[in-house]
Amino acid sequence: MSRPNNFVILGGGISGLSTAWYLSRYAPSSTKILLLEGSNRFGGWIKSKRVGKHKILFEQGPRTLRPNGVGGSVVLDMVNKLNLTPSLHAVTKDDDAVKNRFIYYPDRIIKLPGTSLLSSLKSIIMNNFLLKSIPSILFEPFIKPQKNNHDETIHEFISRRFNNSMSDILISALIHGIYAGDVKKLSIRSTFTRLYDLEQRYGSVIKGLLMSNKEAFLSQQDKDLLKIINDENKELLAIFKNVSLYSFKDGIEQLSSAIVNDLKNRENVQLKTNNQVTKLEFGENVKIFTNDGIYEADHVISALPSRALYHILPKKDTLPHLNYNPSVSVAIINLAYAHPNILPVKGFGYLIPQSTPNNPYHVLGVVFDSDAMPLQDEPSRTYTKLTVMMGGHYFNSISEKDDFPSEEILLQRSIEILEKHLGIYSTPLYYLVDIQKNCIPQYYVGHYSRLKELHYAIKRNYTNQLSVTGASYWGVSVNDCVLNSAKLVFNFLSNSPNVVTGLEKVEIE
Ligand SMILES: Cc1cc2nc3c(=O)[nH]c(=O)nc-3n(C[C@H](O)[C@H](O)[C@H](O)COP(=O)(O)OP(=O)(O)OC[C@H]3O[C@@H](n4cnc5c(N)ncnc54)[C@H](O)[C@@H]3O)c2cc1C
Repeated sequence: MSRPNNFVILGGGISGLSTAWYLSRYAPSSTKILLLEGSNRFGGWIKSKRVGKHKILFEQGPRTLRPNGVGGSVVLDMVNKLNLTPSLHAVTKDDDAVKNRFIYYPDRIIKLPGTSLLSSLKSIIMNNFLLKSIPSILFEPFIKPQKNNHDETIHEFISRRFNNSMSDILISALIHGIYAGDVKKLSIRSTFTRLYDLEQRYGSVIKGLLMSNKEAFLSQQDKDLLKIINDENKELLAIFKNVSLYSFKDGIEQLSSAIVNDLKNRENVQLKTNNQVTKLEFGENVKIFTNDGIYEADHVISALPSRALYHILPKKDTLPHLNYNPSVSVAIINLAYAHPNILPVKGFGYLIPQSTPNNPYHVLGVVFDSDAMPLQDEPSRTYTKLTVMMGGHYFNSISEKDDFPSEEILLQRSIEILEKHLGIYSTPLYYLVDIQKNCIPQYYVGHYSRLKELHYAIKRNYTNQLSVTGASYWGVSVNDCVLNSAKLVFNFLSNSPNVVTGLEKVEIE
């Protein structure tokens, strides 16, 4: 295969931007790169805004990144190369924001077992459902495994290997925090891949955790990437060994903005906003039609949500499943109070499990932003900042009808909830309310098998003219998005495999 020389990347979220960044850095300088973004800004769901006279930072999308795993290292490497290290705000593993995590169940805030033995024991003894989990953890290694690559819901898997209350309470809360999704619909294989793999390989999650090491599940490509990154970023990675979470002085958007600024300085890169792609045509080259013009490419990399790609394909039936998974909508209500200490507890915040009764406003969780990132505002530690997240899978039916509650109602409901859950009676000094429509893709059961079919269909029908990256496929976190874009580019540059789709992981089973 001759390597494409003229790339058009669709979508200017973190996946599209990082794809352009890796291509611009590592492909020969003769490679032409054009990125087309439909809206009037880059960054996609990454949105950090400063509000009001005091320029308070509110995050409407991602608010923290994790340094762990291959994705964590890849993003830190990028941060280093973009000279963003002076702006880093890191939270260490011994910080209250990391140690203190809560859920709201059934009618109060409960601290989850922390890192210290004493506090873990205390929270287990004081909470009946945690106490009930202990026997299920002890007996898990004796439960017969299902080792036939069978996918099932998160709820089915956790209930089968542990117990119902663990899936109904702990895991459903966690899933509200990551996917805003329903544990009874999401695929264990594609969301908690490590747990799934542990059962497949060791027959038990607990046995696997005890027997495996960090390297056990890394592909050769992951290992090669890690080796290069570790060698090039020794100092930063050593500092980050003790870090659990991080962001930047001006929020996560500092990352996407730094990528955009870097790309603007590259002669072979063109970035265009206000270019909504409406149609693709495949012939000798690919023609890309937007509301602003027609462009040509040897190869198109779609970093769009899979449903958006579905709508611009010339023949819808040439690629299966792009339209299968829905995405959920989440209402984000950011609030800042003019007092530093109005919270009854210190920590990262709390999540609300699906099984919590009396959750009429469908709150998914509340983040204590001023505890998690206390230094992003001036003067620091002056405000209490909170983010209430509502909706997700609970909004599915109103999302279809586009019948969301108004911003006033969402604000009022948030204030009511904070009064009830946290005893906060003050009026917020600043607030921001937004509904992020269709923002988090939901990997329903069977996602992996569908990706496999999609991979072979791209190979067959669009050989070397189309590949995909983005949150619709291999993970929704910023780390996942950047890692998958990096791998896509490195596959192109190494000519291996000789047809790149972005989904080749399905071939290494
Ligand atoms: C509320 C919220 C909180 C989150 N919190 C975290 C967190 O704390 N940590 C974390 O790691 N992750 C978090 N995530 C997940 C993460 O932010 C996203 O999964 C990630 O940003 C998705 O990036 P993407 O580039 O794949 O997709 P997107 O951001 O959706 O980018 C796709 C881009 O394509 C453009 N586009 C769409 N259709 C067209 C078209 N036809 N033509 C041209 N352009 C088009 C869109 O305008 C958009 O800019 C959060 C997500 C949300 C919504």
